[in-house]
Amino acid sequence: MNENINFYKFMHKQILVVIALFVGTGPGYLFMGYLYTSMVTESLWFILLLIVSMCGFRLYMSFNSEMTIDEKDLWLNKVRLFMFSYFSIWTIMFVTYVTLDDINMHYVGIATQFGSAVVAATILASQKNLVISTVTSLMFPLALYFFLIDTPYSYLLAFFTIVLSGVLLYAAKNTHDYLLKSRYQAYHDHLTTLGNRRYFIELLESSVQKNYDKYTYLLLIDLDYFKTINDTLGHDVGDELLIEVSSRMKSLCRTYGNAVARLGGDEFCVLSREYNTDKECLYEAEIFSKQLLSELKQNYLIDGNNLYISASIGISIINNPKLKASEFLKEADIAMYEAKNKGRDGVIVFNSELCSIIEAKLDIELMLNHAIERGEIFLSYQPQVNVQNKIIGCEVLIRWNNHKLGMIGPDVFIPIAESTGYIVTLGEYILEEALKTLVDWHQKNLGLQQLSINISMRQLLHQGFIKSVTNLFKKYNIAACDTKVIFEITESSTSDDIPKLINIINHLKEYNISFSMDDFGTGYSSLSYLREIPVDELKIDKSFISSLTDTHQALLVKTIIDISKNLNLSIVAEGVEEEYQKDFLSDLDCDLYQGFLFSKSVSKEEFEKLL
Ligand code: C2E
Ligand code: CA
Ligand code: CA
Repeated sequence: MNENINFYKFMHKQILVVIALFVGTGPGYLFMGYLYTSMVTESLWFILLLIVSMCGFRLYMSFNSEMTIDEKDLWLNKVRLFMFSYFSIWTIMFVTYVTLDDINMHYVGIATQFGSAVVAATILASQKNLVISTVTSLMFPLALYFFLIDTPYSYLLAFFTIVLSGVLLYAAKNTHDYLLKSRYQAYHDHLTTLGNRRYFIELLESSVQKNYDKYTYLLLIDLDYFKTINDTLGHDVGDELLIEVSSRMKSLCRTYGNAVARLGGDEFCVLSREYNTDKECLYEAEIFSKQLLSELKQNYLIDGNNLYISASIGISIINNPKLKASEFLKEADIAMYEAKNKGRDGVIVFNSELCSIIEAKLDIELMLNHAIERGEIFLSYQPQVNVQNKIIGCEVLIRWNNHKLGMIGPDVFIPIAESTGYIVTLGEYILEEALKTLVDWHQKNLGLQQLSINISMRQLLHQGFIKSVTNLFKKYNIAACDTKVIFEITESSTSDDIPKLINIINHLKEYNISFSMDDFGTGYSSLSYLREIPVDELKIDKSFISSLTDTHQALLVKTIIDISKNLNLSIVAEGVEEEYQKDFLSDLDCDLYQGFLFSKSVSKEEFEKLL
């Protein structure tokens, strides 16, 4: 990336400062000329400086942040020329005044020259070479002047002038170093020393801008299961791993002439050099990605731990200058998520088909925002039976019937609602509707023992959740109902949230709400997790139940049930579809059963009939 990237704006501001200096003091010199001299040189100086300042002002106006890096560089060169000319012209006043011996105008000359040098050293500090040439060209005539006076006193002044020049240059160098350092910090990742997100976005933007007939590839790389390493081995090991991963990426990128940056967390980006054809670019992108993957998958030895990690890589080919940088990044992101979906440890190139999947998602996202007000969301209830097949509870499941898209399953739209945050509104609506049903059934005296409601982690951890639950409980006087309310949660969020999660659960337990660990055995939930989180019930995921014929799986289910019994948790088996599955589970003393063997989820009225 261009070294001067944040110096453009700095220099842009300085143009106005020097013009203001001239506007402020210029007329003063004219007036002095009118009082003491012929005014010829003052006028000449004034006109010259006026012309140069006008050029400077045009440069000031011509700058905009949309310019390409090349255009900015050209602009900066012109600014340098402007600055040098501007300060050089001040020397005219110095030479004019120090050569007038009758009046004491040489004091004005000396003061002017010192002043110009100090101003130049301050204002031009960001331009290393410019500051050296300008300050030297201002201070040299001054030192020479003192020297030529040829008295012990003037020699001393010449010496002071040289010392002052040194000090000014030293101070300017410090400012320059500081600017460089702060620029470095603003553009680099502290942990890995790779460029950071800001660095990458600017690099990408400049590459997109100039990329009219060339092709470059953009990779988005996300490590697989990095979170698990972080959680189980600690953040220090996680950090070390990131450093090692970065250094492998850096050295491979060096051989290919690519740039690499860390966008944050375990997400990295690579931008390639330019290629002439899209075919060549794509070919190289795939070669590079595969080699990168294989290098990343080599064993890591960190803190005595032998670690292994893979990555999911999304590729986007940049060749369309009409698209914004962020859109290419989005394409790579879409491809990377597809790689994750396809089981991780892989490379996917963005294509328009992926794009239509995303567009469909966007459609759903848009429609979903109005689903509640359009009355398209309704609840259905799936019975939970005990070993005698008696319904003692139910799980509330959400249904969405969209006027355009038709019936959409919750496994499609719930993740979307979670990613947009709409789940908070949606979840609150579901909760209220479910509680209304609960009160109604209580009044009808249907004798239901428990009602389970799915709560998304994002909804649960939302800062307003406890308040909204307690308000609804008060509003519908849930304390008076004898049906137990259970919140089903699925662990999917980061473990940083565990203390917060425990806190919220304990708080809600004061309102007699019980908690159930949903989909147990899949994703992140683990047995050690069960000990930490104060849940009351565990739901064995339907994937285990459907594969009970596999002796290994059957043994696993037995183990889960044994441990749950030890932890005093009640157990619900979900997805029970066959008689033999129920028999197997009842032999193990499973408490409740839910599944198509007993009933699918049904409407409120139908559920009342079932009861
Ligand atoms: P889940 O919580 O695991 O819900 C159980 C899912 O299994 C339901 O799918 C249910 O219809 C299905 N199911 C029940 N018995 C059987 C069976 O015997 N065989 C098979 N193959 N499937 C069975 P559904 O209704 O499509 O819900 C899918 C997921 O969407 C739910 O999984 C839950 O994670 C989420 N979800 C549903 N309603 C809500 C809700 O109100 N809030 C939130 N946050 N998530 C919800
Ligand atoms: Ca559930
Ligand atoms: Ca479940």
